[in-house]
Amino acid sequence: MEVVNISTSCDAEFVRQVERESEQQTSLCYQCGNCTAGCPYTFVYDIPVSQIMRLVQAGQKKRVLSSRSIWLCATCESCTTRCPNNIDVARIMDVLRHMARREGYASEPAVKTFWDSFLDSVRQHGRVFEMGLVMQYVAKTGRFWTDVDLGPTMYAKGKLALKPHDIQGRDEVEKIFKRFQESRESRGGDQS
Ligand code: SF4
Ligand code: SF4
Repeated sequence: MEVVNISTSCDAEFVRQVERESEQQTSLCYQCGNCTAGCPYTFVYDIPVSQIMRLVQAGQKKRVLSSRSIWLCATCESCTTRCPNNIDVARIMDVLRHMARREGYASEPAVKTFWDSFLDSVRQHGRVFEMGLVMQYVAKTGRFWTDVDLGPTMYAKGKLALKPHDIQGRDEVEKIFKRFQESRESRGGDQS
């Protein structure tokens, strides 16, 4: 078991930042493990979600932000529902993923690429264009055969359009992206 010397490695500002951005009080966690017991992705996590919570309490910024778990989390909110202290654990995982992204950690690059491709697609078309998203993801990752077997079924069910959908309010969506970009720039954040 890994031993962490909290007195020498605790980053108190990291704890404050996670609490500020998530609006959650991490010190309420008493390590009951309910969140991990209900998490459907524990089997692929490198650090179970309850241990992520403990590492956050201990201010172990690098260990947390370099973890694969925060990228593999499906935001299903089972952990949030099961927490006896009403901590929105899923929101904390979300905040950690955003922080990791801002600070240049991407322990699961393919997941980050999928996110980027998804957001590019929404920005460009006002909603996701599935075929374009897949093409961009495949071009950037070289993962040509990922889920290729699902293609025919999705196409048959009308879930894989060959051209972007024509939607109303596309300009409004573009404005949301612009506002986000401007607010990030005004706060001096990075552009990732
Ligand atoms: S939100 Fe994430 S961490 Fe929480 S239970 Fe779901 S997959 Fe696990
Ligand atoms: S369920 Fe809540 S109190 Fe229990 S370990 Fe998870 S975050 Fe901590």
